[in-house]
Amino acid sequence: MTVLGLGAMGRALAGSLLAEPANTVTVWNRTPGRDADLVARGARPATSVRDAVTAGPLVIVCLYDHASVHATLDPVADHLRGRTVVNLTTGTPNEARELATWAERHGIDYLDGAIMAIPSMIGTPEAAILYSGSQPAFEEHRQVLDAWATSTYEDADAGRASLLDLAMLSAMYTMFAGFLHGAAMVTADGVSAREFAARATPFLAAMTSAFEADAEIVDSGSYATDGQTLDWSDLSHLVRVSEEQGVDPAPIAMVEQLRRRQVDAGHGGDAFARIYESLRRT
Ligand code: NDP
Repeated sequence: MTVLGLGAMGRALAGSLLAEPANTVTVWNRTPGRDADLVARGARPATSVRDAVTAGPLVIVCLYDHASVHATLDPVADHLRGRTVVNLTTGTPNEARELATWAERHGIDYLDGAIMAIPSMIGTPEAAILYSGSQPAFEEHRQVLDAWATSTYEDADAGRASLLDLAMLSAMYTMFAGFLHGAAMVTADGVSAREFAARATPFLAAMTSAFEADAEIVDSGSYATDGQTLDWSDLSHLVRVSEEQGVDPAPIAMVEQLRRRQVDAGHGGDAFARIYESLRRT
């Protein structure tokens, strides 16, 4: 197997493969010298991309972005025919689909992967990688994929893994912005961010258990509730207190705006999950 791209993540992926003595691992990186540690551990250094991709049937790609994947693979497309490319470079769903079409045109089996981990987590049970695209490629190379992380095959649509990855990151960043907004509110009164984190961490962790109930409501399409309604969840006081603390209320004002839109449309008696309808454009 071959690993193209020896940045922080590519090195972790290749290193994890080298932990299995039966694996023959060929490595390549655009800038020479980044393979020294891996070569010392038994990796075979390739002298060119062509040399790298012709070393075996499985080519693992972990480069900076979509453009760098094309820059690296386009010149060797003919040599990839009949091989499998597992691309773990972060990209958008449409970029993954474009690569899948490109691969099909060149007779390449294409599997797109989205890594839900940082390099130090690779090879541990905490790491997860989502895959989409060629299911036969996923099945055939399952043993390799499972050495890195918990592997999940999502869909034949090559863009699915990326979509799920980016949707989770979107949820995560919004949550972090919310945490930091709360921290700004309390630090304005001299409470340290650390003290705030000690209280917010268990609270927010417990609140995530409500995702499933919200998901059920969204999937059912029925927002009727005998629980917390949009009217009841008026967040304007949170916006006001944020202003009083001298803190930009942007994160909570955004949520209040989504809520207000549904209330103004006459849905105040519905479940809070109805703000999902404010977000949908189609
Ligand atoms: P690094 O910045 O450490 O490495 C980037 C790699 O891409 C290097 O090998 C670099 O080569 C190569 N590269 C950049 N541009 C080109 C190009 N035009 N042609 C050929 N090679 C190129 O990034 P990471 O290893 O951290 O990340 C790699 C991928 O993994 C990214 O898509 C990232 O989003 C994803 N990922 C990373 C995570 C992380 O925590 N690090 C987490 C989840 C996903 P060179 O040495 O020559 O510059």
